[in-house]
Amino acid sequence: MIQRDRLVQHLLDLIRIDSPSRREGKVALRLKKDLEAMGAEVTFDRAGEKIGGNTGNLIAHFRGSGNSASAFLLSAHMDTVQPGEGIKPWIDGDAIRTDGTTVLGGDDKSGIAIVCEAIRSLQEDKFPYGDLEVVFTICEEDGLQGAKNLDISLLKSRFGLVFDSDAAGILFTKAPASDRMEFTVHGLEAHAGMFPERGLNAIQIASEGIANMRLGRLDDETTANIGFIRGGLAPNIVAKQVFIKAEARSHSYEKLSAQTNHMRKCLQDAIAKHSVVIDGNTHTPRLEEKVWRDYERIHIEDDSPIVQLVLKAAQNLGQNIDTRKMGGGCDASALNQRGFQVANLGTGMHDIHTVNEWLDIPEMCRTVSIVEEILKLHGKG
Ligand SMILES: [Zn+2]
Repeated sequence: MIQRDRLVQHLLDLIRIDSPSRREGKVALRLKKDLEAMGAEVTFDRAGEKIGGNTGNLIAHFRGSGNSASAFLLSAHMDTVQPGEGIKPWIDGDAIRTDGTTVLGGDDKSGIAIVCEAIRSLQEDKFPYGDLEVVFTICEEDGLQGAKNLDISLLKSRFGLVFDSDAAGILFTKAPASDRMEFTVHGLEAHAGMFPERGLNAIQIASEGIANMRLGRLDDETTANIGFIRGGLAPNIVAKQVFIKAEARSHSYEKLSAQTNHMRKCLQDAIAKHSVVIDGNTHTPRLEEKVWRDYERIHIEDDSPIVQLVLKAAQNLGQNIDTRKMGGGCDASALNQRGFQVANLGTGMHDIHTVNEWLDIPEMCRTVSIVEEILKLHGKG
């Protein structure tokens, strides 16, 4: 039986253990104990050493008793965003809330608690289940670093679910690919009052480029943003340098590369318009570009085995699950890129990444019941 009180208590315990990105060690140790008490064999990979964290990804193996040949992956992330230390959760009827000074960390501790409760309930009811692999990752919130560095040689499973999105009853099967960009516009410094004609103002040049960019929501599958800018030294110095961080996302690779190239070209064009002649020598500004693919897209068809399994489980329980595309990346993006087929099932978290974050307890319970049913079906082979 799914025990609501046990689910809530476990969640409160986990929320009270601080676990910002790269400092998930304490919550990882607690979860190791919990999972071992449930009969799992728990190991950690070495991802933490690679990214400067105090623990690796937690990997727990449950030996199944069912007939299924393949192992099933259940994953959520242990780290939380800031402000997320000293969290004081409290229960408000069917909701779990914060005191308004921190996030709740239901992103993604709700996912962890749901996975644990589903397995506990299955075990108590003595339902046969297949081999299960539970992966609780580190550093999702800072570039999916845990999942990107996950030692997949420690895993047999290649298909399963990540629990890391808000709406319960929604299965996210599509997510955009994302490009990240860093630009440095190099101008030429000069005294702003005495010799401005001997300078090239990097702030002005960068502004011209940015002003020409298409940004924001570009169509139903593409977005772009300038998210960070820094430059110049003082009002009386023609600005020598501007540093810009930007991103673009799209569910279409074609549109993504078009958008990334568009943003680069806007800055290149702005730079090409400027030059200055000093003592007979022509000086031109320069653009330094760093562009990389942050993560690949997720594109799981509705007739794929993982989607069909989730839909069948929901149907058995008389519940409704819709597949949908999401606007952001998560561990599932990194895992799909690495050869897994993993969709993202909503947990019942709300207003995430804000101090108003809250969890809907009935939604979490519903998600647990679906997960339990999925694992029963998987165990039948
Ligand atoms: Zn998350």
